[in-house]
Amino acid sequence: MKKRTRAIRNTVFALLCCTAAVTAGQSAFVPPIVSHADTQSDLENKIKEADEKLKELDQKIAEAGTNIESNKEIQDTYWDKLVTTQNKIDLVNLSVADKEQEIVDKEAEIAAVELRISDTEERIADKEVQIEMLDRQNKENINRFGQIMHAMYITDSDDYLSIIAGSADFYDIFVRSEIMKSVNEQNLNFMHQLLADIDRLEEDQRGLEEDKKNLEYDKITLESEKDELIDQKIALDEEKKYYNDLNSSYWDEYNTYSVKIKDLETRQANLQYEKKVTQADREKAERELEEEIRRAQERAKNNTVYDTGEWAWPVSPSYTLITTYFGYDSWRGGNHGGIDIGNSGMMGANIYASKGGEVIVAKTTYIPGYDYGMYVVIDHGNGYQTLYAHCSAIYVSVGQVVNKGDCIAAVGSTGWSTGAHLHFEVRKDGGRIDPFSVVSIPQ
Ligand SMILES: [Zn+2]
Repeated sequence: MKKRTRAIRNTVFALLCCTAAVTAGQSAFVPPIVSHADTQSDLENKIKEADEKLKELDQKIAEAGTNIESNKEIQDTYWDKLVTTQNKIDLVNLSVADKEQEIVDKEAEIAAVELRISDTEERIADKEVQIEMLDRQNKENINRFGQIMHAMYITDSDDYLSIIAGSADFYDIFVRSEIMKSVNEQNLNFMHQLLADIDRLEEDQRGLEEDKKNLEYDKITLESEKDELIDQKIALDEEKKYYNDLNSSYWDEYNTYSVKIKDLETRQANLQYEKKVTQADREKAERELEEEIRRAQERAKNNTVYDTGEWAWPVSPSYTLITTYFGYDSWRGGNHGGIDIGNSGMMGANIYASKGGEVIVAKTTYIPGYDYGMYVVIDHGNGYQTLYAHCSAIYVSVGQVVNKGDCIAAVGSTGWSTGAHLHFEVRKDGGRIDPFSVVSIPQ
């Protein structure tokens, strides 16, 4: 039962620890082995920070992109609304034009009627003049007739004459009377004619007055029709104004979104520029790091004398459980650069130098959850180096010469590791080789 639990835990180790050594597809990049540990760690941190920043920038760029998309979608809905209202405005404009034409037509009709009215008024005035003329002539006749009467029948009443002169009906009475028989036939005919003329003119005048009344009635009807058209036009103008206002508010919204989108696009472009700069910084740091490594290896090669003895097991011979071997590891789909020795209860156990040499890395600073954590690299000369990672304590310092079997550090779980174990690497001429090609599990 206990064994089984351990096996499961070891599987977890195999999956999660030492990912720093897993650099599938990036085999050219070998983690740092330098004597100038600070420069190297600064550069590593720079690269790490750049990576984090790049991740953040990518996220922000994507967010800006999503934002742009959603703003564009909203803007599209305003465009649709603009098209709809513009169609309405076009229709209303047509109606307004129609209505204006109708009003112009109506005004022309009214003008025609007014012309006929003034025409009729002129004719009425003419009739009045004629009637007045005849009237005057008639009065003269009556007057003259009265004088004749007076001469023929001497009366003593002046009132009688004034009655004759004042009344048109007088003729009717008079014409039928006995007295008229002796009146000159020519005079009488003339008077009849005069009376008939007056009657006819008055008849004409009445007819014209009737016409005028009808025309005025027509005019009133037309005016009220025109008023109605004007009301309709006002309503249409109001409708037009409503849609114009709506349209301009939609334009405002549309333009607001244009500004927003432009701002976002500018922001996105700035972020992309920042990304480019960060990438350039990262590449520069990486180049510097490579150069640093190269120089360190150069120094190591020149300084260290090769220890020709056998290789020692880097921990107590009682710890021999290999949780991950060197090479391709299907669990993580990448290469594992060393071996993991992961018996339970290893926390704090001694780590021994596998061979004599010079300590070229003794790293005690690290970012939790990343890479090797605390680790030591020893240069053994002749192109060989060993690396001991995820330590909980380090007992040596850079430049220190150690012998095979010296205790250099304590087993831990720092860096990318989920439990105490030793990640042990052997390097030859800058590349990682299978540790089992030089060291064997103690029997
Ligand atoms: Zn490992």
